[in-house]
Amino acid sequence: MIKAKNINKSFGELEVLRDVSFDVQQGEVISIIGPSGSGKSTLLRSLIGLEEINSGELFIEGISVKKSGKKAYEKMGMVFQGFNLFPHKTVMGNLIEAPIVVKGEKKEEAKKRAEELLNKVGLTDKKDSYPAQLSGGQKQRVAIARALAMEPDIMLFDEPTSSLDPELVGEVLTVIRGLADENITMMIVTHEMGFAKDVSDRVFFMDHGKIISDTVPEKIFVNPESERIQNFLTKIL
Ligand code: ADP
Ligand code: MG
Repeated sequence: MIKAKNINKSFGELEVLRDVSFDVQQGEVISIIGPSGSGKSTLLRSLIGLEEINSGELFIEGISVKKSGKKAYEKMGMVFQGFNLFPHKTVMGNLIEAPIVVKGEKKEEAKKRAEELLNKVGLTDKKDSYPAQLSGGQKQRVAIARALAMEPDIMLFDEPTSSLDPELVGEVLTVIRGLADENITMMIVTHEMGFAKDVSDRVFFMDHGKIISDTVPEKIFVNPESERIQNFLTKIL
């Protein structure tokens, strides 16, 4: 589904991704953990084409990102820490915008799927509300539904609960858990270690621009292979 081969990314002199390689299979859920500044966001942003890599190769569903230009990204959705909803559009307006504008769907068709997605994230009654009228947890659930409206095969989440009040974290994680059960391929940057442990097939630990561990959650959380990881987990838990 996703294949990264020796990807490198620098901002000026700063090497942010250093020879990163990995494979993600269809339906796998990958959590990415690691200290601030280790390159987690840059990795996800590179996968979806928001950052251009300096070297290496990236394949999405077997298509080389370099060769296909934008095409490879059409299969991906991304959810950010800060929601990024259109403030002047209703919840429904947010959900139907991209399917209509980007995919050329008919409005009725887009609305029908939006209704289904709002039902899935538990927000049917908010379809006519504006983002400012929603709680953080509700905004993030709208952001997830909006990404799903494009029917992606792959969903990327960058700290989807980091800007939420603690009592709102659970409702967002529940929605993401539901997607994991539906077999959508996902990569999730998170500091929610309990969630990462439950939901992931594999956990990547990033440090200084490298994936220094790529293993099953049972291993990294129960018996981390390096002192570096152990120290990080002790601090965060
Ligand atoms: P993480 O998500 O793990 O906290 P990031 O990928 O956001 O890490 O950032 C990795 C490093 O790259 C940090 O040192 C950050 O300051 C730097 N960085 C990220 N984006 C940019 C940018 N657009 N320009 C310059 N430096 C950046
Ligand atoms: Mg980040």
